[in-house]
Amino acid sequence: MKKLLLLIDCQNDFIDGSLAVAGAPEAMNSLADYIAQHADEYSAIAATLDWHPYNHSSFAKYCPTGPWPVHCVQHTVGAALYQPIVDATQGREIHFFTKGNNIATEEYSIFANPVNGPALAKFITEGEFEQIDVCGLCGDYCVLNSLKGLVENGFESLINVLLPYTPSIDDGSTLRNYLSSIAK
Ligand SMILES: [Zn+2]
Repeated sequence: MKKLLLLIDCQNDFIDGSLAVAGAPEAMNSLADYIAQHADEYSAIAATLDWHPYNHSSFAKYCPTGPWPVHCVQHTVGAALYQPIVDATQGREIHFFTKGNNIATEEYSIFANPVNGPALAKFITEGEFEQIDVCGLCGDYCVLNSLKGLVENGFESLINVLLPYTPSIDDGSTLRNYLSSIAK
C-alpha cells in the first residue's frame, strides 16, 4: 500500500518553545521513535510548517486581536522541525509545505494557503497514495483544520490519524468528535 506520512507543524515553538502544547515533547519523542522504526513503510514523508513573518497578525504583540504569542517566525530555531524527528528520518527526503507566510492571514490548515494548499493536493494526487497517516500539532487547531482541508479536497477516504502523536490544547475531544463525524 502506498502510504504518505503527513506531519503537521512538528516545530520547536509548539513543543518546547513559545507556544508549547502540553504533552508535546513526550508525543513528539514517541513520534520520532515511530518514524525511526516505520519510515520504510511510507512512500513519502511530507511536513507542514507554520511559517510567519516576524510581525504576523496572529501575534498579540503586534496586533490587538492576535490570539497567540510570537511563534514560528520564518528561519528561526522556533520554526525548525523538531530535531529528534529530523534525526529519525535518517536522510529521507521530507517534502515541506509552509503556511501562515502572509502577514494578514491565519492559516491553521495548510489548505488555506493559496500556494501550498494546492501544491499539497497535487502532491497527494500525483503520489497516488492509498492512505495518509496524519499527526502533529496541535490536534484541535492545525491538525483539525488540515483534516477538514483533506476532506474538502476529496481525500477523506485516505485519512488515518495517529492519535498518540497528535496532542491537543484541549482534552482531545474536539479532534475525536470531528473524527467521529467523518467516521474515522
Ligand atoms: Zn501560527
